[in-house]
Amino acid sequence: MAFDLTELMAGRSTDGYRMHARHLNREVPRMLHAIDFDTVYSGAEGAWLVGEDGSRYLDLLSGFGVFAVGRNHPAVRNALHQVLDAGLADMVQMDAPLLPALLAEQLLARCPGMDRVFFCNSGSEAVEAALKFARAATRRRRVIYCEHAYHGLTLGSLSVNGGREFRRGFGPLLPDVRVPFGDLDAVERELRRGNVAAMVVEPVQGKGVNVAPPGYLAAAAELLHRHGALLVCDEVQTGIGRTGTFLAHEEDDVQPDIVTVAKALSGGFVPIGAMLARGWIFDRVYSSMDRAFVHASTFAGNALAMAAGLATLSVLDDEDLVGNARRTGALLAGRLAALGDRYEMVGDVRGRGLMIGIEFSRPSSMRLRSRWTVLRAARRGLFAQMVVGALYQRHRILCQVAGDHMEVIKLLPPLTIGEREVDYDVTALEEVLDEAHRDSRMAWGFGRTLVRQALVR
Ligand code: PMP
Repeated sequence: MAFDLTELMAGRSTDGYRMHARHLNREVPRMLHAIDFDTVYSGAEGAWLVGEDGSRYLDLLSGFGVFAVGRNHPAVRNALHQVLDAGLADMVQMDAPLLPALLAEQLLARCPGMDRVFFCNSGSEAVEAALKFARAATRRRRVIYCEHAYHGLTLGSLSVNGGREFRRGFGPLLPDVRVPFGDLDAVERELRRGNVAAMVVEPVQGKGVNVAPPGYLAAAAELLHRHGALLVCDEVQTGIGRTGTFLAHEEDDVQPDIVTVAKALSGGFVPIGAMLARGWIFDRVYSSMDRAFVHASTFAGNALAMAAGLATLSVLDDEDLVGNARRTGALLAGRLAALGDRYEMVGDVRGRGLMIGIEFSRPSSMRLRSRWTVLRAARRGLFAQMVVGALYQRHRILCQVAGDHMEVIKLLPPLTIGEREVDYDVTALEEVLDEAHRDSRMAWGFGRTLVRQALVR
């Protein structure tokens, strides 16, 4: 009998959690049960997820940023149908197929200063490529990275990850050259110590949504170049229009030597990553015919990923999504910042385009401060978790805390959202904050769930 996916899945939609606990990482379903996020989703479109019971959820997480063009975009789906129907000779390996060349051409046209592209299958792999290319091009070993940086979890990318919680237990890693984000003196100090191949940095850090201070990246590039080292901008999360320009570093008026992108590039359908670099860097790595495959990946440039990538870039242009990220991002950030006038716990609202962080801070009134202190004593970041939980449970809005032990929530919606979604989100957040500020038992009683969560973490 022919394989039938629909039949295979029929009537089994709720088996996922149980089977994950048994066959995959059991801590994920445990954690999701504990915080009551264990919804079964049956569909999705644009910025909305649909639960099995038909309820709609506003998706301000967009699969950690992959669904920039919205979920299940028809143009990308259509491109995938087309490429399957074409029956192409994909991944022959001993050929030079057209689709990767077309996507490389399109990407390079949007990234001035970059000459060549290396395709791969994830953000981590793009960062791995950047680390290897920087080492090979400079013949040096050390790579500077920033506190709170997130560049992936494979062994090389983990070595430049600023989160101690990710690194613990996996060492020894590559030589450790961590600097505070925004501190140019620290960069210079490391450069003087010598043997620095590159600095890898996110223009807006995903963990904490920390925006590079004005002039930081340009000054870092200048320092690095003076010492013969390279600047790698990791745009895996910030790239492809997220921050209101195609790449976030455009806003920083800097010319990096290497750029990494991934996530949104294939419209969320097919794993993809890409490292873009100056031509001379490629020439040092692929320096002769016998080194043609010295850095490669079997699935890199596969037809599905490339077709999805081409369709995604076309959707970004056709729907002016980069412009929308800028406009709607400014609208959303402005309305969120205004909440700071009414709610004492809303501290900083920061970010760029549609990558927005809301930081909560210690309330000034005695009444709220004792509640805050109790939560804080249990675990730093619990208030932000509480807000994320309340947004989800009571308003069906999916978002995330911006990192471990941080009182920051992050909004990373599809770039397709407009006023309607902004209204929905701001109104919901107002209600959640209203209750928390009124000291309502209901709001802070959510601590029950949080204590459970604290127990599982
Ligand atoms: N770099 C950055 C800036 C990221 O945000 C991420 C993913 N969150 C990565 C690298 C790693 O990407 P992936 O999970 O696709 O390996």
